[in-house]
Amino acid sequence: MMPRFWREIPSRYSLMGSRCGNCGKIWFPTRDMCPDCHRKSLGKMEPYRLKPEGTIVTYTVIHTAQKGFEAMAPYVMAVVELDDGVRVTSQVIDCEPEDVAIGKRVKAVLRRISEEGKEGTINYGYKFVLADQPY
Ligand SMILES: [Zn+2]
Repeated sequence: MMPRFWREIPSRYSLMGSRCGNCGKIWFPTRDMCPDCHRKSLGKMEPYRLKPEGTIVTYTVIHTAQKGFEAMAPYVMAVVELDDGVRVTSQVIDCEPEDVAIGKRVKAVLRRISEEGKEGTINYGYKFVLADQPY
Protein backbone atom coordinates (compact mmCIF):
# COMPACT_ATOMS: atom_id res chain seq x y z
CA MET A 1 0.00 0.00 0.00
CA MET A 2 1.27 3.43 -0.82
CA PRO A 3 1.89 5.83 2.04
CA ARG A 4 -0.87 8.36 2.45
CA PHE A 5 1.17 11.37 1.43
CA TRP A 6 2.01 9.88 -1.94
CA ARG A 7 -1.58 9.05 -2.67
CA GLU A 8 -2.52 12.63 -1.93
CA ILE A 9 0.04 14.18 -4.19
CA PRO A 10 -1.75 13.77 -7.54
CA SER A 11 -4.77 15.78 -6.47
CA ARG A 12 -2.73 18.44 -4.73
CA TYR A 13 -0.20 18.63 -7.47
CA SER A 14 -2.80 19.57 -10.00
CA LEU A 15 -4.32 22.16 -7.61
CA MET A 16 -7.79 20.66 -7.70
CA GLY A 17 -10.84 22.59 -6.70
CA SER A 18 -14.53 22.01 -7.19
CA ARG A 19 -16.87 23.59 -9.69
CA CYS A 20 -20.53 23.85 -8.82
CA GLY A 21 -22.66 22.28 -11.53
CA ASN A 22 -25.53 24.47 -10.40
CA CYS A 23 -24.11 28.02 -10.36
CA GLY A 24 -20.70 27.45 -11.96
CA LYS A 25 -18.67 28.92 -9.09
CA ILE A 26 -15.23 27.48 -8.50
CA TRP A 27 -14.08 26.66 -4.98
CA PHE A 28 -10.71 25.77 -3.55
CA PRO A 29 -9.96 23.52 -1.78
CA THR A 30 -12.50 20.97 -3.01
CA ARG A 31 -16.00 21.10 -1.50
CA ASP A 32 -18.74 18.53 -1.35
CA MET A 33 -21.37 21.21 -1.39
CA CYS A 34 -21.44 24.69 -2.91
CA PRO A 35 -21.37 27.33 -0.13
CA ASP A 36 -23.59 29.51 -2.33
CA CYS A 37 -26.19 26.99 -3.46
CA HIS A 38 -26.09 24.82 -0.32
CA ARG A 39 -28.35 21.81 -0.64
CA LYS A 40 -29.32 22.54 -4.22
CA SER A 41 -25.83 21.68 -5.39
CA LEU A 42 -25.63 18.28 -3.71
CA GLY A 43 -24.18 15.77 -6.10
CA LYS A 44 -23.40 18.46 -8.61
CA MET A 45 -19.90 19.39 -7.51
CA GLU A 46 -17.37 18.53 -10.20
CA PRO A 47 -13.59 18.33 -9.87
CA TYR A 48 -11.99 21.39 -11.35
CA ARG A 49 -8.33 21.79 -12.22
CA LEU A 50 -7.20 25.29 -11.33
CA LYS A 51 -4.61 27.14 -13.28
CA PRO A 52 -1.64 27.40 -10.88
CA GLU A 53 -0.98 31.04 -11.67
CA GLY A 54 -2.26 34.24 -10.20
CA THR A 55 -1.67 37.74 -8.91
CA ILE A 56 -0.80 38.97 -5.43
CA VAL A 57 -3.80 40.82 -3.97
CA THR A 58 -2.22 41.65 -0.63
CA TYR A 59 0.57 40.34 1.55
CA THR A 60 2.15 40.52 4.97
CA VAL A 61 5.74 40.03 6.02
CA ILE A 62 5.87 37.77 9.05
CA HIS A 63 8.84 38.60 11.25
CA THR A 64 8.03 36.33 14.15
CA ALA A 65 7.47 32.80 12.96
CA GLN A 66 5.47 30.26 14.92
CA LYS A 67 7.32 27.60 16.87
CA GLY A 68 9.18 25.21 14.62
CA PHE A 69 9.34 27.72 11.78
CA GLU A 70 11.77 30.23 13.35
CA ALA A 71 14.41 29.60 10.70
CA MET A 72 12.00 30.74 8.03
CA ALA A 73 11.40 34.26 9.37
CA PRO A 74 11.01 36.76 7.92
CA TYR A 75 8.66 35.28 5.35
CA VAL A 76 5.82 36.49 3.22
CA MET A 77 2.20 35.39 3.45
CA ALA A 78 0.12 36.53 0.53
CA VAL A 79 -3.46 36.44 -0.65
CA VAL A 80 -3.25 35.35 -4.27
CA GLU A 81 -6.09 35.58 -6.73
CA LEU A 82 -5.70 32.69 -9.12
CA ASP A 83 -6.58 33.28 -12.75
CA ASP A 84 -9.75 31.28 -12.14
CA GLY A 85 -10.89 33.89 -9.64
CA VAL A 86 -10.28 31.84 -6.51
CA ARG A 87 -8.36 33.46 -3.65
CA VAL A 88 -5.76 31.42 -1.81
CA THR A 89 -3.65 32.42 1.19
CA SER A 90 -0.19 30.96 1.10
CA GLN A 91 3.46 31.65 1.59
CA VAL A 92 5.57 33.28 -1.11
CA ILE A 93 8.96 31.59 -1.05
CA ASP A 94 12.39 31.79 -2.63
CA CYS A 95 12.46 35.57 -2.70
CA GLU A 96 13.29 38.50 -0.45
CA PRO A 97 10.29 40.17 1.22
CA GLU A 98 11.18 43.40 -0.63
CA ASP A 99 10.78 41.64 -3.98
CA VAL A 100 7.11 40.96 -3.25
CA ALA A 101 4.55 43.54 -4.34
CA ILE A 102 0.82 43.79 -4.84
CA GLY A 103 -0.03 42.98 -8.45
CA LYS A 104 3.00 40.75 -9.04
CA ARG A 105 2.42 37.48 -10.87
CA VAL A 106 3.04 34.27 -8.96
CA LYS A 107 3.06 30.54 -9.71
CA ALA A 108 2.03 27.75 -7.36
CA VAL A 109 4.68 25.18 -6.54
CA LEU A 110 4.37 22.02 -4.51
CA ARG A 111 6.64 22.12 -1.49
CA ARG A 112 7.29 20.16 1.63
CA ILE A 113 5.51 21.96 4.46
CA SER A 114 6.53 19.87 7.42
CA GLU A 115 7.91 16.54 8.46
CA GLU A 116 6.46 14.77 11.45
CA GLY A 117 7.59 12.07 13.79
CA LYS A 118 10.01 9.19 13.42
CA GLU A 119 8.37 7.82 10.31
CA GLY A 120 8.96 11.12 8.63
CA THR A 121 5.49 11.67 7.31
CA ILE A 122 5.94 14.53 4.92
CA ASN A 123 3.19 17.02 4.34
CA TYR A 124 3.09 18.70 0.99
CA GLY A 125 1.22 21.78 0.09
CA TYR A 126 1.17 24.76 -2.13
CA LYS A 127 3.38 27.76 -1.84
CA PHE A 128 3.96 30.48 -4.36
CA VAL A 129 7.04 31.73 -6.15
CA LEU A 130 7.29 34.93 -8.14
CA ALA A 131 6.47 34.15 -11.76
CA ASP A 132 9.67 35.77 -12.98
CA GLN A 133 11.75 33.30 -10.94
CA PRO A 134 13.34 30.49 -12.94
CA TYR A 135 11.07 27.50 -12.17
ZN1 LIG B 1 -23.35 26.77 -6.57
